Amino acid sequence: MEDLATNVTQTNDQITQSSSAAKQSTWGPLALSMLDLISNRKRTRDFLGTRANFIQGRIRLLALVFAAIVVLWTALDYVIIDSKETVIRLAVLRILCAVLYLSLASYGTKLHDLPRARLKLASLVILPCLFYIASRFVLEDAGAVGALMLYTFFPFVVVVQLAIFPLPLLEGLALLVPAFVTLVAVEAHFASLLSLSFLGDLSLLVLLSCLALWASMSELQMLLRLYRQATRDPLTGLFNRGALMERMQVEVERGRQHGHKLCVLLFDLDKFKRINDDYGHLTGDAVLKTFAQILEQGLRSSDLVGRYGGEEFLAVLPRTDTADAEGLAEKIRQMCAETTIAARDDSKLHFTTSAGIARLRPEETAEVLLLRVDESLYQAKEGGRDRVILAA
Ligand code: GH3
Ligand code: MG
Ligand code: MG
Repeated sequence: MEDLATNVTQTNDQITQSSSAAKQSTWGPLALSMLDLISNRKRTRDFLGTRANFIQGRIRLLALVFAAIVVLWTALDYVIIDSKETVIRLAVLRILCAVLYLSLASYGTKLHDLPRARLKLASLVILPCLFYIASRFVLEDAGAVGALMLYTFFPFVVVVQLAIFPLPLLEGLALLVPAFVTLVAVEAHFASLLSLSFLGDLSLLVLLSCLALWASMSELQMLLRLYRQATRDPLTGLFNRGALMERMQVEVERGRQHGHKLCVLLFDLDKFKRINDDYGHLTGDAVLKTFAQILEQGLRSSDLVGRYGGEEFLAVLPRTDTADAEGLAEKIRQMCAETTIAARDDSKLHFTTSAGIARLRPEETAEVLLLRVDESLYQAKEGGRDRVILAA
């Protein structure tokens, strides 16, 4: 079937310039592309926060497990290594390592903070590498060559653990670097980079790295798909009502706590039923998609916007006063008025929107704020439509 979205003639420059490939693709706004799995550049802050939360939860669990294993391993050292002094030196290293793992597991409550999640991930990778280097020195010093076989697998563990995290390719590659540097540096220092055993280890590390990267990217793909299905409206790609309400609650709470200004805009397309009746539902859908693009163009990246109901859309503007909110709403109203859509029969259609604006009052709940913005939208309709009304 012919894709109606391609029939949309956008006379507004801003929309034409930035119609995103994902939105125009035949797979619709929820489709995933390879670029999604390579870097974070196209990700929204909201998804990055969700991913950070997920990663930090897994780091916590893994760090607790490793803290326990690294200490319990002392029992094996005791059986295998003859020199008790070496066992004690290793035990000290192990306890230090376990303490660092425990602090990694308990550090921080800002679970949606991506830089913090990355820092923890880097620590999770670097910590066992350092432990491996230090324990190799202790073992080589003591000539405990037999025990080395219990330690040489560390770089492999470092790589394999990455498989449980949802990572884009570039982030995964960066996190692999410490394991390779450690393997090469330790081998160059204690043995030879030309030995068959080193080349075997290196090949195995490369193979495991490829598998870990594949698993990480698949995890990311799964997380992204679930996130989009749970939070996005399939027609427009904007937040769905549930996701928007959750995020609005958070912003309202933050605004109240810190005394920040916050405004909401409620848009309703005018006489939309008539568009459906006159041009058909598919053209009506195309109008909704175009309006969603106008909202994304007209609003800022810090604003939240979603489909509130059928042809109603809500925008939450954190740290915004009424003058700026009015300016944004007016800009969007004008962008709609200047946009032409080609219907299936090649006739041109125009559409308009009405909007209500309300600013969060001190101590006001999200529900009351919504009631007030709904009231101002109603006034915009009563006043003749195609206008923006600020709540009293
Ligand atoms: P008003 O200016 O007072 O808002 O009039 P209106 O016709 O826009 O309002 P009304 O509430 O009477 O009609 C809204 C219409 O939106 C009715 C419904 O069929 C249509 N609608 C809701 N969701 C969708 C959708 O996903 N696609 C299409 N094509 N139409 C939809
Ligand atoms: Mg309506
Ligand atoms: Mg309407």
